[in-house]
Amino acid sequence: MPHSKYIVAANWKMNKLASQAKPFVSEILMSYIRKNADLVICPPYTHLPHLSANKIISGFYLGAQNISEFESGAYTGEISADMLLDVGCTHVIIGHSERRAMNPFENSMIPNKISFALSKGLKVIYCCGEPLENRINGNEKSYVHDQLTHDLYHLSDLSQLIVAYEPIWAIGTGKTATSDQAEEMHLFIRKTLQSKFDKRSENLKILYGGSVKANNSIELCSKENIDGVLVGGASLIVDEFIGIVNSFNQ
Ligand code: PEP
Repeated sequence: MPHSKYIVAANWKMNKLASQAKPFVSEILMSYIRKNADLVICPPYTHLPHLSANKIISGFYLGAQNISEFESGAYTGEISADMLLDVGCTHVIIGHSERRAMNPFENSMIPNKISFALSKGLKVIYCCGEPLENRINGNEKSYVHDQLTHDLYHLSDLSQLIVAYEPIWAIGTGKTATSDQAEEMHLFIRKTLQSKFDKRSENLKILYGGSVKANNSIELCSKENIDGVLVGGASLIVDEFIGIVNSFNQ
């Protein structure tokens, strides 16, 4: 599928202070060439209101890193879809491997979280990807296939869903999948979802995540089925991140 426009999403994880968010994003935006890539910034919850006013002026999208599967009520420490919408969020990351690893119940909550976020009008950046052991054993595709069937097959349409393939062995390790390894898995994901959703998955974007840097983003995104990147560590460094974003405008 041709890339009409790439997506570059930044996952800040639990980094930076709210007071640092706006100056940091302003610096990025000064050098951001809005041509071939849409930018989605996903800071910690507390930073969202600080960026939402800025978002309107500058035209980047604002995302959260997690969401509750419930509407409202007695869920101490949780953040609802309405709360995210209220501070200007348009996107939410669901199923990040760090959350799956931290919370033994996360996997079982993912299908509901996705349906709920979509029903509220949020775009979902859904993360999947295999651990090192599965890659070594050569069963990475069946691992990802199981994730897709468990997490997505209850949906009726994928038009507001973005998939991020993030092999766990490449996250925060400095070890990037080769562009061929990533392309092979992206094609597999696309075909798997096409066979289930047919035309309802037609415009699906599939991002790659895992130690993306300015010096490997171009090579990764030269592949037909890689529609952008989800960036962790390098999204915290102004020059690296600008390098990644603008590499789509070469
Ligand atoms: C991530 O956590 O989504 C990620 C891709 O991290 P990093 O870029 O640091 O590997």
